[in-house]
Amino acid sequence: MKPNETEPAPGGTERVKRGVPEGMWLRCPQCKATVFRKEAEKRLNVCPDCDYHFYLPARERIRQLLDEDSFEEWFTDLAPCDPLEFKDRVPYAERLRAEQGKTGMLDAAVVGRGFVRGRPVVFGVTDFAFMAGSMGSVVGEKLTRAAEEATRSRLPLILVSGSGGGARMQEGILSLMQMAKVSSALARFDQAGGLYVSILTNPTMGGVAASFALQGDLTLAEPGALIGFAGKRTIKNTVRLELPEGFQTSEFLFQHGFIDRIVHRKDLRTEIARIIDYCER
Ligand SMILES: [Zn+2]
Repeated sequence: MKPNETEPAPGGTERVKRGVPEGMWLRCPQCKATVFRKEAEKRLNVCPDCDYHFYLPARERIRQLLDEDSFEEWFTDLAPCDPLEFKDRVPYAERLRAEQGKTGMLDAAVVGRGFVRGRPVVFGVTDFAFMAGSMGSVVGEKLTRAAEEATRSRLPLILVSGSGGGARMQEGILSLMQMAKVSSALARFDQAGGLYVSILTNPTMGGVAASFALQGDLTLAEPGALIGFAGKRTIKNTVRLELPEGFQTSEFLFQHGFIDRIVHRKDLRTEIARIIDYCER
């Protein structure tokens, strides 16, 4: 019996979109192969057949990029609230509780301090599994404080974006102002001579792409990541032109000078260390 007959193929793009589905097998959304989960995990959650980079939870990203047990997490008590008492299909407060239960996180960002091959850094990551990694007050505040700590301690700042959700509409203007707030903190960090390396992963969209994710001194991206501001359909309906094939992928953006380098997940850690050495000397 073929593996995908023992259980419904977990792939369906719908489910892959919201993180790696549970089960022994994964379906690769790129080459459609059925992949043994353990095999993908051994390769840092990359498809063994076509190199598709699967979703990676924040904790796993920290484990892959930072030296073992070197991460010290900051601001762990920052929790989201619901000042607008926003309600779409479900009340925001209820949605938050559900996302917290599902992910074990209070909100979508994790920041702190750690080491990359022995080099101290301030590190932050946004996790797609929590409300598509969207930036509300907590994500904005954590990233701002991370930039401020990096400024104070004169350490390189490394941020990994996995934010397909952009700004978090459930927090309205309080969410939108995070774009300006994080950007200001990054500008002060830049004026102080700090090194900021931004790493874009699949997907990085909307208000996140329009703020901190694309303000790095160096912008790296994982292969095949979806990166952009508005979605393809929205742009098409607005400009009414045929859009180039794959215009919101890492590869297209690299060719057009929008990002500096595409780095395979297995090389990211070494690449960050190399960049720090190159820039800090
Ligand atoms: Zn594949």
